[in-house]
Amino acid sequence: MMLAGELRLHGVDVIVLEKEAEPPPNVRALGLHVRSIEVLDQRGLLERFLAEGKTHPVGGFAGLTKPSPDRLDTAHGYVLGIPQPVTDRLLAEHAAELGTDIRRGRALVELSQDGDGVTAELADGTRLRSRYLVGCDGGRSTVRKLLGVDFPGEPSRVETLLGEMELTASQEELAAVMAEVRKTHLRFGAMPLENGVHRVIVPAEGVAEDRTVPPTLDEFKQQLRKFAGTDFGVHSPRWLSRFGDATRLAERYRVDRVLLAGDAAHIHPPTGGQGLNLGIQDAFNLGWKLAAALRGWAPEGLLDSYHSERHPVAAAVLDNTRAQMQLLSPEPGPQAVRRLLAELMDFEEVNRYLIEKITAIAVRYDFEEGHELLGRRLRDVRLRQRGRLYEQMRGGRGLLLDQTGGRLSVAGWADRVDHVVDVSEELDVPAVLLRPDGHVAWAGEDQRDLLDRLPRWFGAATG
Ligand SMILES: Cc1cc2nc3c(=O)[nH]c(=O)nc-3n(C[C@H](O)[C@H](O)[C@H](O)COP(=O)(O)OP(=O)(O)OC[C@H]3O[C@@H](n4cnc5c(N)ncnc54)[C@H](O)[C@@H]3O)c2cc1C
Repeated sequence: MMLAGELRLHGVDVIVLEKEAEPPPNVRALGLHVRSIEVLDQRGLLERFLAEGKTHPVGGFAGLTKPSPDRLDTAHGYVLGIPQPVTDRLLAEHAAELGTDIRRGRALVELSQDGDGVTAELADGTRLRSRYLVGCDGGRSTVRKLLGVDFPGEPSRVETLLGEMELTASQEELAAVMAEVRKTHLRFGAMPLENGVHRVIVPAEGVAEDRTVPPTLDEFKQQLRKFAGTDFGVHSPRWLSRFGDATRLAERYRVDRVLLAGDAAHIHPPTGGQGLNLGIQDAFNLGWKLAAALRGWAPEGLLDSYHSERHPVAAAVLDNTRAQMQLLSPEPGPQAVRRLLAELMDFEEVNRYLIEKITAIAVRYDFEEGHELLGRRLRDVRLRQRGRLYEQMRGGRGLLLDQTGGRLSVAGWADRVDHVVDVSEELDVPAVLLRPDGHVAWAGEDQRDLLDRLPRWFGAATG
């Protein structure tokens, strides 16, 4: 839905095919991290997310938390607690408002491609033809399998039950038992939600392994008794599920006219709450590039840079979730490493380093040597005359922030790049050229240098 919105900003016709007629009741992701919050702000969507979510302090690695560092390089130094079904709905509403054709209850079952486009075949026999197709169809992606793209990594080894249900135990009893059990079993917990409902999580050890079959309430009770000595009187489940820690990364994000994004391209355990965030950020990277290819101005290699930029980012996320899973193990070795890391996190720089990893604000694409900002996303900054920088980026175009008083020019690219002449007290560089995804494509003050750089990201000059 994020990708659909991005493409619509550039006038691209988009059809979203969703095999389920209705969204599932399960709540997987619980929140958004800094970079996703920034992305939403860059498109004018943040207000509606803030209205439905709750902000919390940033921080946490494998459940270890320390006070947030004083200065994070962002105007949005918080976690936005918002259940995934709300995020999904808000992004779908946004995509629909911009004119996306969303078709629910339509499953893709076959695809083929040639030099001009892609043919998708749906379960109901319908055939659709498009110039490109992006598989955003989750970890068991049909598109990825039909493409024959390898998905190397590790199978699931540690399984967990998760569900929402009511319980009869008092909050005091719950807190006391949890404190005791969590001394050794960190994948155990019961978090109160609203109206007496709790989000309950417990290791699945010993429960049938078929993940396509949801666990029963009896299985939940049996696991709770096994780990806590009580089942807290759980009853009236809203939904029950299980998840594993399979960790895999698609070998290629693009095969000609078909691309992969989100869980279709990468899966990993939910530690640190990064999967949905990663998918939103994939879409933000891909949207303008795919639109450029469709509109005919994409420079050589632009669409392939989606893989070369996002694949390493996902590989790094997979690695940090592997590390976090080790730190959650009840074994004495990992527990000792955990205690050591907790001590290290008292050093603000260590804490900051981990926070920047999980929130994705440390991501730097490998452009070329040069200014320290190159390849990084730029935080939001206040401008003297025109409000905030991110408010200038809502149209999804490139942006030259020119603090030289207007000595620079993007004539020739004015249809793709906005020229904002203004000054920010928070930005110590004469000018920056931002890609539509907010990453710095150039920084400096020399017009000839800028003219060298513009075609690399924005294609040939016109007019
Ligand atoms: C327990 C748990 C907790 C999590 N917590 C967090 C968290 O706190 N933060 C976070 O960022 N992430 C979290 N995640 C990860 C997050 O849920 C996923 O990364 C995210 O849902 C991926 O989004 P997606 O759109 O790529 O895939 P999905 O959400 O899986 O969506 C894929 C869609 O494609 C549809 N589809 C599948 N096949 C077809 C087909 N053939 N034709 C048409 N449609 C099809 C599916 O019905 C589905 O709606 C968690 C995951 C789990 C399991």
